[in-house]
Amino acid sequence: MTMKKKNLMKSRGYQICTNCVMDTSDPQITFDEQGRCDFCNNFYNVILPSWHFDEQGWKELTTIANKIKRETKGKTYNCLIGLSGGVDSSYLTYIVKEKLQLNPLLLVVDTGWNLKVADTNVENMVKKLGLDVVTIKINWEEMKDLQLAFFKSAVPYQDTPQDTAIFSALYTYAAKNGFKYVMTGGNHSTECVKPPQEWTYYNDVKLLKDIHRKYGTIPLKSFPICSMFKYRIIYRYFKGIKVIKPLNYVNYKKDEAIKVLTEEYGWETYANKHFEDRFTRFYEGWWLPRKFGYDKRRCYDSSLVLTGQMTRDEAIRDLEQEPYDENMAIEDKKYICERLGINEAQMTSFFDLPNKTFRDYKNSSKLITAAIRIAVWFGAEKRNFRV
Ligand SMILES: [Zn+2]
Repeated sequence: MTMKKKNLMKSRGYQICTNCVMDTSDPQITFDEQGRCDFCNNFYNVILPSWHFDEQGWKELTTIANKIKRETKGKTYNCLIGLSGGVDSSYLTYIVKEKLQLNPLLLVVDTGWNLKVADTNVENMVKKLGLDVVTIKINWEEMKDLQLAFFKSAVPYQDTPQDTAIFSALYTYAAKNGFKYVMTGGNHSTECVKPPQEWTYYNDVKLLKDIHRKYGTIPLKSFPICSMFKYRIIYRYFKGIKVIKPLNYVNYKKDEAIKVLTEEYGWETYANKHFEDRFTRFYEGWWLPRKFGYDKRRCYDSSLVLTGQMTRDEAIRDLEQEPYDENMAIEDKKYICERLGINEAQMTSFFDLPNKTFRDYKNSSKLITAAIRIAVWFGAEKRNFRV
């Protein structure tokens, strides 16, 4: 991007998309003459034309499932699923077991922050579907050290330690145990508007290591770290691991999924996407909007608007409410401080640090951007990618 364009963006006034609820809190958003944002245009021009969630999608998915059954004949499990207890991964588990008749092994990554509701959801799913589950517990001292390092780094992406642990544990387990198929709950229906790079950034091991080298206090000996290179190249092409997103082949609607899960599996709902985790709840509901002005509900709601699960007016009304209850925020903050072994004054001092971005640390942004550009070119990646 040219300097001129950057300055133009800085100086421009507030604008919100006329079709969804993304706005200029995403510094790189662009709008067309109708005031429609680039997420919307990416959805209509790139995602929608190749997204089949009707009979055609179901036919494609059953063909994939049959192929998996043939290839994994004689094995105890057909595939691996990372289960968080949230709606996407729970519904995915239901589809894979009940509709596709596959036997998945479930993998739960315990980062130390799960709320009871998520654990109960996992227990209920496992019991009622009669599935096996493996839990990987992340070393708490290392988790804590990395999270404190991220707070000290003042970047917006405070969930990188958890995201990295969950993602890396899943693919490392798959590679080590010879799984050829990993099923994920990734889907267009609730995620077609992905949080912009400025808000979440990538899975970038170089950045994580640099932040930990600067602010960490103990070595990360057992913390799972799987780089983009390992995941995209080694695991896919040398280990032959294929990642399938079944929810993109069915008519996945959040409300209907919750209804099925609640009625048939004693599943309990929670307030917001990703609010099954206490750290994420505080981070997305309080820290990120207050310190950086980024409200992830904009992406979640915009995804639902684009896929017809919410009207734009409903989304606007939703955004007028506080992300979550102030008293709960106070309680969560207290709890997080205790768990991380800091006092609230220290937490406030992290909050008051001047905001930084990945550009302030060593990073692989250029390399990752190039890799995604290639994937977009091949049609393997459909996210709204800004060149
Ligand atoms: Zn839009």
